[in-house]
Amino acid sequence: MHNLTITELIDGLKNRVFSSTEITQHFLARIRNLDSEFNSLITLTENQALKAAKTADQLIAAGNAPELCGVPIVHKDIFCTEGVRTSCGSKMLDNFVPPYNATVVENFRSSGAVMLGKTNMDEFAMGSSNETSFYGPVKNPWSTDSVPGGSSGGSAAAIAARLAPGATATDTGGSIRQPAALCGITGLKPTYGRVSRWGMIAFASSLDQGGPMARTAEDCALLLNCMASYDDKDSTCIDRPVPNYSAHLGDSLKGLRIGIPKEYFSEGLNSGTEQAVRASLAEYEKLGAKLVEISLPNTGLSVPAYYVIAPAESSANLSRFDGVRYGHRCNDPKDLEDLYRRTRAEGFGDEVQRRILIGTYCLSAGYYDAYYGKAQQVRQLIRQDFIQAFEKVDLIMGPTCPSPAFKFGAKGNDPVAMYLEDIYTISTNLAGLPGMSLPCGMVDNKPVGLQIIGNYFDEARMLNAAHQFQQVTDWHQLAPAGIE
Ligand code: GLN
Repeated sequence: MHNLTITELIDGLKNRVFSSTEITQHFLARIRNLDSEFNSLITLTENQALKAAKTADQLIAAGNAPELCGVPIVHKDIFCTEGVRTSCGSKMLDNFVPPYNATVVENFRSSGAVMLGKTNMDEFAMGSSNETSFYGPVKNPWSTDSVPGGSSGGSAAAIAARLAPGATATDTGGSIRQPAALCGITGLKPTYGRVSRWGMIAFASSLDQGGPMARTAEDCALLLNCMASYDDKDSTCIDRPVPNYSAHLGDSLKGLRIGIPKEYFSEGLNSGTEQAVRASLAEYEKLGAKLVEISLPNTGLSVPAYYVIAPAESSANLSRFDGVRYGHRCNDPKDLEDLYRRTRAEGFGDEVQRRILIGTYCLSAGYYDAYYGKAQQVRQLIRQDFIQAFEKVDLIMGPTCPSPAFKFGAKGNDPVAMYLEDIYTISTNLAGLPGMSLPCGMVDNKPVGLQIIGNYFDEARMLNAAHQFQQVTDWHQLAPAGIE
């Protein structure tokens, strides 16, 4: 049952092959039996899940089931869930139980989806390896001595290990696409503003965007149909009708112009990864697409610009965690200053503190123009590169990350090496464009991801391109050893 896709589960539920209660019990049992090895979930919501499954079964029996009725999913622990701890991977929020649901969580709830639990993640979504989580690292189901990617590594590993058929995740600089690539699943970061950020704990507000993860593009389309909505509680959410992302999954790719940025195939790219990506591009040519070499000349500036903008925004966002209103509070503070200092020193891990320091520095009066102002200018140049490219091509493709999953500890002492993990994903966030990753090969028994970048709000075209690829290849069907 755990090998079925969401599309197949929905069919089975409709045709009464199994009930939501049966599926839910099945996945809960898998999590209980297997997740001690992977650590992909922080919180299991067993009772709520069984209750939601029962309600779903009643709705299905009554013949008025909403689209995702009875389908089990897991939410990244960055999305607020009413009455269920939402830790954001941090000691700071280890005791935080939100009184409301994030809009994304509410959308899934009203669509009948069944939440199994909350997934592990890098602390406040800062990281590329899940090693910064207060709850310990997530292990990659393909190779448990390697990282699953981050920050949505828990969501990606849970899907790869067949502990859930779908998940929510968030992407500020690559956190949906990079773990999807490293865990051999499919994940999509929508256009900035497509999915509500309300109730999604803020890291860098001008870059953060929620999106779906599943095994196939077809399933991601179903999840995005539910996840995307206009929300007046998020002032950056865009008021634009949500198309049916499943409707174009049969379109032909004949004549599709795919841009191949030469900067994405330069030094630093693992040769096995490059081969797998090039072989996939050849597959697209067979499907009728035309490959066009393009240039995104400012790609090299994206990591430096991001590591000014994201820490600057996060230092402002994280100032709310001060021990006063919610979250961790130090014992016996002497005075207010002591409360702030000790609460924040105890509650935040090293990487989060590093970002707060960098961000505060970049925003300080004397350096604001030199760093933050400059980074915002660079951001415009990066956006312009893409706008020009999309005058000539329909989609852009390349590797999602420079190499397959690396071993624990390999980059932990070298923040810059870790930051370079996102070299191919970060510029999409800076430009606000949608991007996705899908499995396209294996190197040393580890999955490789193909990245697809689309023009603003062109998720339907991206999903169809990924779906067509998944009709003629079976990389997305491979399962890690021992997971069958
Ligand atoms: N790895 C990047 C960072 O650490 C991106 C994280 C993310 O997308 N949330 O900031």
